Amino acid sequence: MSLITEEKILKTLSTVMDGDRNIVDKGMVQGLQVQDGHVIFAVVVPPQVGAKAEPIRKEAEEKVHAMDGVLSATVVLTADKDADGGGAPQGGKAPIPEKNAPLLPGVKAIIAVASGKGGVGKSTTTVNLALALRDKGLRVGLLDADIYGPSIPRMLGISGDPESSDGQRLDPMVGHGIKCMSMGFLVDEDTPIIWRGPMVQTALTQLMRDVAWGELDVMVIDMPPGTGDVQLTMAQHVPLTGAVIVSTPQDIALLDARKGLNMFRQVDVPVLGIVENMSYFTCPHCGGRTDVFSHGGAKEEADLLGMTFLGEIPLDIVIRETSDSGHPIVDHTPDSEHAKAYKAIAEQVWNKACERLEAKAAATPRIVQ
Ligand code: ADP
Repeated sequence: MSLITEEKILKTLSTVMDGDRNIVDKGMVQGLQVQDGHVIFAVVVPPQVGAKAEPIRKEAEEKVHAMDGVLSATVVLTADKDADGGGAPQGGKAPIPEKNAPLLPGVKAIIAVASGKGGVGKSTTTVNLALALRDKGLRVGLLDADIYGPSIPRMLGISGDPESSDGQRLDPMVGHGIKCMSMGFLVDEDTPIIWRGPMVQTALTQLMRDVAWGELDVMVIDMPPGTGDVQLTMAQHVPLTGAVIVSTPQDIALLDARKGLNMFRQVDVPVLGIVENMSYFTCPHCGGRTDVFSHGGAKEEADLLGMTFLGEIPLDIVIRETSDSGHPIVDHTPDSEHAKAYKAIAEQVWNKACERLEAKAAATPRIVQ
């Protein structure tokens, strides 16, 4: 198998035409990344062209995929107002949206749910939080940005492919009354991709800008686990109202959660509070409660850092079964203790998000004519 290089890919792509010029010369190929035979890039078109450029995207994807040495090709179509088709040829950086560009114009509050590492129950917390916000009568969207293991579609019981009713943007999928879009719909589950900052940015921008989210009171984002560059780029470029950190008692002991806090502070995103997940253990047989090693650490840590402690969720097989089977506990057994705990967390998160929005509105100068 021959080694695939950016140069070879650009050469192939220069056979894809848009009108009388090829897409490489027109500067439409951006964010090209090659890793171990996996190729990802964006085809950038002006917004008014939008989904009409789909045949070009498809041709580019097929031609690259057919190249010797290419295992997978993921090509996303990105609308960019500066793409006039006359740019310099390049295979450089993906278009990074400005921090204040209206990525989600109809969405009032955007809340990121993050964790210092994987497997702490971030996605489980995200879906139950979203359902609890729905129960407050809010219009809720859920963006699954966990590129390493998109699990939200499964937890919301959603399968299939998203469609487009206006031929321009994708319609979000809907599960239990929540509008949802996931990296899982964009990338083939069997295709291992090593994500780098610019690729994530391209894909995430598409999930926000090219999806018909409509009017929402709140969008909850399931962030990728960890606090590396990818997460930092996201936190920086998505207009977040605030973040919620999920951690386990052990995670707190290992200071992973503190890294999460620091990451958001670095990019001036307010942390709304910390949730301690798998906080204590309820015995499935007798219902008795056992504290997990270093339980209570999140509350202590939150107090120490002057953060809000949002609540604790026990390690309980019911929470696992309900979320893993597509019917999370807040929807499955709304009167249970656990559902009530999630609802109490959602109440605080929403109040804090509203405070932030009000503070922001007060700080924004009004234009008086
Ligand atoms: P993350 O998003 O942090 O990787 P997940 O939400 O996918 O973590 O959770 C990992 C696994 O742990 C899942 O199978 C989930 O059902 C389970 N889980 C999460 N929270 C709890 C809990 N409080 N009690 C029992 N199982 C849980």
